[in-house]
Amino acid sequence: MNIRVLGCHGSQFPGYNTTSFLLDGTVLLDAGTITSVLSIEEQIAIDYILITHAHLDHVRDIVFLADNVYYSKKEGPAVKVMTTQGIIDALKTHLFNNIMWPDFSAIPTPEDHILKFEVIQPGVKFQLDNLAITAVRVSHTVETVAFLIEFEGGSVIFIGDTGPTEEIWKVARELENLKAVFIEVSLPNSMKETADVTGHLTPDRLDSELKKLGVLTPRICLFHMKPQYEKTIREEVALIRNVDVHILSEGEVIRID
Ligand SMILES: [Zn+2]
Ligand SMILES: [Zn+2]
Repeated sequence: MNIRVLGCHGSQFPGYNTTSFLLDGTVLLDAGTITSVLSIEEQIAIDYILITHAHLDHVRDIVFLADNVYYSKKEGPAVKVMTTQGIIDALKTHLFNNIMWPDFSAIPTPEDHILKFEVIQPGVKFQLDNLAITAVRVSHTVETVAFLIEFEGGSVIFIGDTGPTEEIWKVARELENLKAVFIEVSLPNSMKETADVTGHLTPDRLDSELKKLGVLTPRICLFHMKPQYEKTIREEVALIRNVDVHILSEGEVIRID
C-alpha cells in the first residue's frame, strides 16, 4: 500500500498543510488537504473519503473537491464520504447545509449526486476494494474515530486527533502483523494543560500511549504538529526510547507491504 502524505500538520502555513493521506490513489483518509496539491485527474480518481472527525482541519477540502469534480463533469458513482452517523450529522448540519456550502449530496439531484454520505459502525469491519477497514472510537473533544486498515500481508492503524485513549491499543495488541501506527503529536510538553483541554498529545503523553502497544514494535509515523512548536516537539520526540519513530513531511510517500 502506498500512502501519500498530502498534509500532516495541525494548522496551515506556507508549506504546511492540514491532515490528509491518500491510500493507493483512491482512498482518502481525512480531507484537510486535497485540492491545493492534487491535479484534477487525481481528484477525480478519489472514490472514498474516510473521516476521523468533523473538525475543519480534517474535512474542509471536501467542499472544494465536490465543486471541482462537479464542474469537471466526473462520470460514474458519487464520491463516498464514510464515517459515523454522528460525524455525518455534524457535516450535514454545519458544513453542507446550503448556507456554509451547497449540499452536494443532493446535487445535481438527490438520486444522482456528487457526494454520498455512508454511515459506518465503530467496530464493524467493511471492505473497500482490497482493504478491510474498521473504525474504532478514540478520545478527542468531539466524536472521533481511528481506523484499522488491513491488507494482504499486514495492517496499519491511523489515529488522528486524540488525547490519551484505550480501545484502539487493545485492538492493536490483538493484531498479528501490525506494520505501522500513524498517530498525532500536536503540542510540546510545556503545553500539557492545553493538550489535555483540546484532546491532543504531547511527546510525554505520546510516550505513555505507545507503551500500550505492549510487545509490538511497529513503525511509528507522527503528524499533526502545530507548526509553531515543531522544533521543540521534534527535540522532545527524539527522547522517546525503544521506538522506531518517523516524523512525516508533506509530499512524501510511505510504502507499506
Ligand atoms: Zn486536527
Ligand atoms: Zn480535532
